[in-house]
Amino acid sequence: MLHITGLSHRYDDGHQAVDDIELSATRGELVSIVGPSGCGKSTLLRCVAGLQRPSAGRITVDGRAVEGAVPDGLAVVFQDYTRSLFPWLTVRDNVALPLRRHGLGRAERRARAAEALAQVGLDGQAGRYPWQLSGGMQQRVALARALAYRPALLLMDEPFGSVDAQTREDLEDLLLAVRGGPEGAGGSAKRPPGGMTILLVTHDIDESVYVGDRVVVLTGAPGRVHSDLRVDLPAPRDRVATRGLPEFVRLRAEVGRAVRRP
Ligand code: ADP
Repeated sequence: MLHITGLSHRYDDGHQAVDDIELSATRGELVSIVGPSGCGKSTLLRCVAGLQRPSAGRITVDGRAVEGAVPDGLAVVFQDYTRSLFPWLTVRDNVALPLRRHGLGRAERRARAAEALAQVGLDGQAGRYPWQLSGGMQQRVALARALAYRPALLLMDEPFGSVDAQTREDLEDLLLAVRGGPEGAGGSAKRPPGGMTILLVTHDIDESVYVGDRVVVLTGAPGRVHSDLRVDLPAPRDRVATRGLPEFVRLRAEVGRAVRRP
């Protein structure tokens, strides 16, 4: 679904942020990208999102090249929810309004917003404003806005980096719950078959293993792929039981060693 080959990026000031990145993801896969601060994770994501044209290399989404333009079917969730939500719009309108750009009528926009807010457990908050919600709830609104779009590819850049540890665990479980789409909603021709492909950038090693089907470790600088590990942990994942499994402990240690590689 996503293919990245030979991706390198050098900023205008000559700083080489990523070098010769090779990375693929299949449809419906959740790939965690983990690495130390400054190793080029955000640069990589911005290139995939078409927000930044790489100096070299090729990125394709569903066989179509991303050439400095935002690919179809792409949604992004950033870390800083306080800046990504409009304070003057209700929760419902924050989720529904961006769908106008995709030519959806008012009824369809409202239906999708309601469905997405239900998915993230905020159906009762639709008429409130973002500033009336906790940080974790605001980030759920940002996630609902992405889900309402029914993306084929969801990019998340440190999405849970600004919330407390307990909320973070809740949001990790929420992500695992929503990645397959809403229960019983099936049959919509507009929903990408096979589910969303998700790239999740995080510096949290535990999180990368807990939510991932794969963990790609970047080391830098410049950022390069150090390892690409398959996470064979049973579903559904459980925040206590999964973390106690020997395979989880082994993977977490392996990712940790790779990240801290001198
Ligand atoms: P990460 O997300 O892993 O922390 P980034 O992709 O943000 O890493 O940054 C990778 C490297 O590129 C860092 O050294 C950073 O300082 C540098 N960098 C990021 N953005 C720019 C920019 N616009 N101009 C120059 N250097 C940049």
